[in-house]
Amino acid sequence: MLNVIDTPDPDFMQEEEITLFSDSVGKWIDEHAPPEEVQSWIANSTVPRELWNKAGEAGLLGLSMPEEDGGMGGDYRHEVVLMRQLGWKGADHFGISLHNAIVAPYIWHYGTQEQKERWLPRLLTGELVGAIAMTEPGAGSDLQGIKTTAIKSGNGYVVNGSKTFITNGQLANFIIVVAKTDPAAGAKGTSLIVVETDGAEGFERGRNLHKIGMEGNDTSELFFNDVKVPGENIIGGGEGMGFIQLMQQLPQERLNIAIQGVAAAERGLSETLAYVKQRKAFGKTVLDFQNTQFKLAEVKTKLTVAKVFCDHCIGLHLKGQLDAVTASMAKYWVTDIQGETLDEMLQLHGGYGYMNEYPIAQLYKDARVQRIYGGTNEIMKVLIARSL
Ligand SMILES: Cc1cc2nc3c(=O)[nH]c(=O)nc-3n(C[C@H](O)[C@H](O)[C@H](O)COP(=O)(O)OP(=O)(O)OC[C@H]3O[C@@H](n4cnc5c(N)ncnc54)[C@H](O)[C@@H]3O)c2cc1C
Repeated sequence: MLNVIDTPDPDFMQEEEITLFSDSVGKWIDEHAPPEEVQSWIANSTVPRELWNKAGEAGLLGLSMPEEDGGMGGDYRHEVVLMRQLGWKGADHFGISLHNAIVAPYIWHYGTQEQKERWLPRLLTGELVGAIAMTEPGAGSDLQGIKTTAIKSGNGYVVNGSKTFITNGQLANFIIVVAKTDPAAGAKGTSLIVVETDGAEGFERGRNLHKIGMEGNDTSELFFNDVKVPGENIIGGGEGMGFIQLMQQLPQERLNIAIQGVAAAERGLSETLAYVKQRKAFGKTVLDFQNTQFKLAEVKTKLTVAKVFCDHCIGLHLKGQLDAVTASMAKYWVTDIQGETLDEMLQLHGGYGYMNEYPIAQLYKDARVQRIYGGTNEIMKVLIARSL
């Protein structure tokens, strides 16, 4: 555990079961995702496929999946622990939190009993790797503008369209596709349909996109050309519920991003402190300069405030009270703070901060996307402004 932020965790995160779980997740990451392993993910632009199965064996998939659905019976705190440990240890290129805390919940929240039985056990073992495909080349922020269709044909659906920027896109074989089941009906004609891609004719993966950061995570184009999907694959069983389901789940996705942002910036502060304590200039350490102390005092303050706000949001979410506006505030403000503080911390490394081999360089690059995905920070402000 990093101890760069002194403010104690809220009581609900200090329960013994949660702290013990945190220690065991930390050990798992040390064993399966040490820094040299993360470097190989970056070199290959993806994690090894078997890492998903290993995570399944360790019980890390489906952490908050209800016990009655075969899950671990944990709750959102367990997902928080996983996200924080991955961030603290620099292993957050592994897209496990997307699988656990974004994709799988659509099934246990809205899936029919038959869908839960068909998919959840395989999402739990890593046999299925999850992704969610909303964004298209022509529609990102304006999700209502998507063109992908899932049109009824006999007992099933035929899916056509292109998606882009899809996280886990090279390895995922369980893809929740946002598609129009009734293109004339706008938001009400949108559904979430699962495409199991193993052996799916007409499904193609495009490029594993070359990114400026988060390089160890696969992000892809996906193409659907007359892909036949069983009628039972519409999440919830009925057409037209896609937008409502997305709107209900996006607050958790946005809180996830904020939590990941704080954890990554905490790691940045820990790395920066270690660096400025040993780097010498003008016969002193860099930390001896008052400018460095003031900058790091600002960073520590900002990260403390960010963490406390995230903790507040986690508390609300555990009670089922996290609304879309508050989650948007967390996503936009915390990721802005993440970018701002990591920029300051890179500066304190001088030229070494610009070298890829230094963790601060990776953290700086990785932070940039946080203000873009999950809804851009501008869209977060649009949502907040509606509440004024
Ligand atoms: C690494 C990475 C991973 C991703 N993973 C996924 C994933 O797993 N699944 C998925 O579906 N998508 C994913 N995305 C896509 C991401 O969610 C979109 O890129 C994002 O929503 C923005 O959409 P866009 O890129 O089309 O930008 P656009 O919507 O074209 O926006 C361009 C600019 O215009 C601004 N803008 C747009 N509308 C407004 C408005 N109303 N008011 C003010 N400003 C506005 C935006 O804020 C932005 O600055 C990922 C993206 C990246 C980079």
